Amino acid sequence: MKRIVIKVGSHVLTEGGSIAKERMLALVGLIAELKAHKNEVILVSSGAVAAGFTQLPLDRSSVANKQALAAIGQPLLLKMYQEKFARFGLLCSQVLFTADVFDEPHHIGHAKVAVDTLLENNVVPIMNENDTVSIEELVFGDNDRLSAHVAHHFDAELLVILSDIDAFYDKDPNKYHDAKRRVVVTSILPEELNAEHTPNDVFATGGIVTKLQSADFLMKHNREMFLASGFDLSDVKSFLIEEVHKGGTLFKAV
Ligand code: ADP
Repeated sequence: MKRIVIKVGSHVLTEGGSIAKERMLALVGLIAELKAHKNEVILVSSGAVAAGFTQLPLDRSSVANKQALAAIGQPLLLKMYQEKFARFGLLCSQVLFTADVFDEPHHIGHAKVAVDTLLENNVVPIMNENDTVSIEELVFGDNDRLSAHVAHHFDAELLVILSDIDAFYDKDPNKYHDAKRRVVVTSILPEELNAEHTPNDVFATGGIVTKLQSADFLMKHNREMFLASGFDLSDVKSFLIEEVHKGGTLFKAV
């Protein structure tokens, strides 16, 4: 039994301002397949602000509006996930965090018992930052760093980040056509960890830097991270199910 955390970015989950239902269904299908292959899966999902925006198009440039949109969108997002997981006979659940939970061993200990209980009962925990009361994600990190903490504290061997980009490259592939994919990364340079954030979408707040920070954190705690496309799930499927590393980047300390 392997425990895996999958993080999906807002760019993958949205299309033209709404939730991308087909991609959500493909993701849920992947999780069902992984569970059928005896994996335990925790999902960290963005998309609450985008889901809220479909109901009430507030100006997203203010943090207060984004918090309000998250409050509107989070239950809608979960409803969509519930409907999709039900098609595979699976139950899902909502676990919302504030970043400070991870600094409190007592808090995180309780959360771990609850999440272990969900997993033992074949329920998929869907986690997100509670954006309405904690603005860490909205200001800094599109859940990349939250998902790294989740993988570490909930004892997963691997974090899979499904992104709008299919791997980590030696330079930004959206700017440089000669960018080359890094297949396996065993260490990350300090200048890469401190580079400017480069989110690629109005709903995204992360960019590649928060992914590298997450990978660095996990490698330092002897865990692995796999970065692959969330638009086309074939690379992540071959990596996790066929155990063949075709596309994507594996971050793994030597
Ligand atoms: P998501 O919303 O899927 O989490 P982001 O849009 O926040 O992802 O971050 C991924 C983006 O980071 C890519 O689309 C790409 O333009 C940019 N990027 C910058 N440098 C790199 C790099 N070296 N390798 C891959 N992507 C990079």
